[in-house]
Amino acid sequence: MRDAQDRPIRYLRLSLTEACQMRCVYCRPALLTQSSQTGRLTPNEIQTLVCHLVSNHGLTKVRLTGGDPTARPDLIEIIERIASIPGISDLAMTTNGLSLASHAKDYANAGLGRVNVSLDSLNPKRFTNMTGVDAMKRVLAGIDAAIDSGLTPVKLNTVVLNHENLADLPALVQYAAMRRVEIRFIELMPMGPLAEHWTDRYVPASRMRNALSKIITGWQTAPQGSDSAQTYDVTLRDGQHARIGFITPMSCNFCSACNRLRITSDGSIYPCLMDQPRGNLTEAIRPKFDADRLDRLLSEAIQAKAPEHPVTGVAVMTQIGG
Ligand code: SAM
Repeated sequence: MRDAQDRPIRYLRLSLTEACQMRCVYCRPALLTQSSQTGRLTPNEIQTLVCHLVSNHGLTKVRLTGGDPTARPDLIEIIERIASIPGISDLAMTTNGLSLASHAKDYANAGLGRVNVSLDSLNPKRFTNMTGVDAMKRVLAGIDAAIDSGLTPVKLNTVVLNHENLADLPALVQYAAMRRVEIRFIELMPMGPLAEHWTDRYVPASRMRNALSKIITGWQTAPQGSDSAQTYDVTLRDGQHARIGFITPMSCNFCSACNRLRITSDGSIYPCLMDQPRGNLTEAIRPKFDADRLDRLLSEAIQAKAPEHPVTGVAVMTQIGG
């Protein structure tokens, strides 16, 4: 699949649910009502959809997201079904990390390749302030379990907020260096009803780099992976090495290389994270799968993919999955 800008679309980010065990201040508006659990794409529908995208449209990469994918009781079955599809070279999951200490092995055994785990602070109080749960130790145990279970490379995601966790960046880099995992610092995006706090809370990557300068002696551009981060290999003053990524949707967007298609748990198709949904694919899979209709819907949505993302996102992040 190619969009109107001739960008190839090979990467599906599938939001399995908008439910999440955390209440991150930058992600989930307090007033979000829980949507119905019925009507969500079933494991069978997900498998049929992914199979179709792989066989007919060159899809190679799937990321499970949410809400939190681990809030779905049928997550293991979904992983198994996607992992069984030949042609998927990368099956990853973004998670808050709460269930990894007990289930990382199960996810790996089911066929999950790797995880990105959100970690906003190593200060327990700030972690709780930002996420709404007192669970930093559990997440840290989950990161270790993911590494031990081979869900690698494990990557850590930190959304950086002014007046909140900017001062925590050096400790987070030192932690990542000790665990030999990459850490990515994410610029806050103005999404849904939370957009009104953006001006006060936004920190551009240049300020994040400044906040790190006291512990880093050298920055070297790392080989660019397939994702959206600007990545650096750095040497710390204590002699350790770390890999740091900056995800800069606001100060320097990466839209020209965007190869993503997003589908939410209710079947809505989002060609761009910050745009409105462009159709819903359930009409092509219920009551029975109609490949031609699905292709028409996908094609219309992808042709509507904006050359660059709008300034403000209409969707709530916890629904679309980041
Ligand atoms: N619950 C999972 C988690 O905690 O990672 C997956 C869903 S979460 C919506 C996916 C990613 O979006 C996380 O890395 C999160 O930090 C990021 N995110 C959420 N809200 C954001 C915002 N307003 N701006 C930038 N990134 C955001």
